[in-house]
Amino acid sequence: MFHIAVIALGSNLANPIEQIQNAIKRLNTLPEIQSMTVSSLYRTAPVGYTEQPDFINAVAIIHTTFSPYQLLHALQDIEQQFGRERSFRNAPRTLDLDIIDFSGEIYNQPELTLPHPRAHERGFVMHPLAEIAPDYPIGHFGNAQQLSQKLGNDGIEKIM
Ligand code: AMP
Repeated sequence: MFHIAVIALGSNLANPIEQIQNAIKRLNTLPEIQSMTVSSLYRTAPVGYTEQPDFINAVAIIHTTFSPYQLLHALQDIEQQFGRERSFRNAPRTLDLDIIDFSGEIYNQPELTLPHPRAHERGFVMHPLAEIAPDYPIGHFGNAQQLSQKLGNDGIEKIM
């Protein structure tokens, strides 16, 4: 049984472009991920704590046999392998992997909230998602195309 999931990738430390490219390669090696469509890479201005380098962001849509929690733990393992240090909220990070949506399922737990509670207000997630799946629905907030248009593209630049 396959599920469709949306993953957001972000990095702003230690050669972020390479971090994102390597994370995509690593995800592709997992047998539980059968297919993957990846957006372009975007350079985006930091949100929240702004005294830090720009981010590189991308979004991937996967077909997977993982359950939501199995996927979360696989993403956390990869974050660890890429040397992420958790210091404070919105701090610089070598690699951040979030589940944006998992086949429209709704989870309301602190460890896993789906759809991701802030994704619909993040241009750096909605723009890449709209590029590869404009009709993708984000809960009751609308689809990726509508949300990315509403958010505008200030501070978001497609780089490759
Ligand atoms: P952050 O430091 O912002 O990446 O947040 C990581 C924490 O958010 C972890 O403890 C996760 O268990 C939790 N979390 C809740 N919902 C999600 C989600 N949809 N994707 C990734 N992490 C999540």
